[in-house]
Amino acid sequence: MKNMKNLIPFLMLITLVITSCKKEETIVVEDETPIEVQLTATELEMMHYMMEEEKLAYDVYVTLFDIYGTIIFNSISKSELTHIAAVNQLLAKYNITNTASSTIGVYNIEHIQELYDALVAKGSLSLIDALTVGAIIEDVDIYDLEKYLGETENADIISVFNFLNCGSRNHLRGFMGQLELQGVNYTPQYITQERFDEIVNDSHETCASYTLD
Ligand code: ZN
Ligand code: ZN
Repeated sequence: MKNMKNLIPFLMLITLVITSCKKEETIVVEDETPIEVQLTATELEMMHYMMEEEKLAYDVYVTLFDIYGTIIFNSISKSELTHIAAVNQLLAKYNITNTASSTIGVYNIEHIQELYDALVAKGSLSLIDALTVGAIIEDVDIYDLEKYLGETENADIISVFNFLNCGSRNHLRGFMGQLELQGVNYTPQYITQERFDEIVNDSHETCASYTLD
């Protein structure tokens, strides 16, 4: 928000300078601000961050499916691919290059790299640990998405992040169902216990797709 406030007068000034320079040679029909500058630095950062985080989810689930062959990791990894595709489309709309690595387990953001390493190490210990890792990933995913949703008014970002969040809530319910079958409890590490209970006690949702207008 702070960045945006600083940016707007700055951009207006730039536009003014450009317009006045060009005045003699061209007639400015409409002052159409390029799409990129409509994003704040925070919005740009959250788009890149969520791309890396969705990739982390996909990478971890594919890795855990390789180890255990448990179907939930396979089905949820496919859902993560639709999340990656959604963020990719969002980036493309604003002409932002997707800088995420195409290699499994490799990230540009140090915190995500550390999270991946720790989660794969834990998930490799046992199936219960692996299912717990699934719950942790969805827990952090929901936490980050809901935090970011409170920091933007951009309709495209809101639509895509709501789509991701809906999927994450279903994934969390899925992993919790599996953990319950194993007789294991999970205490949320990122979202509050209250938010966690609210999600888990709710039934499976049909996640409407996102719209980029
Ligand atoms: Zn996801
Ligand atoms: Zn997920």
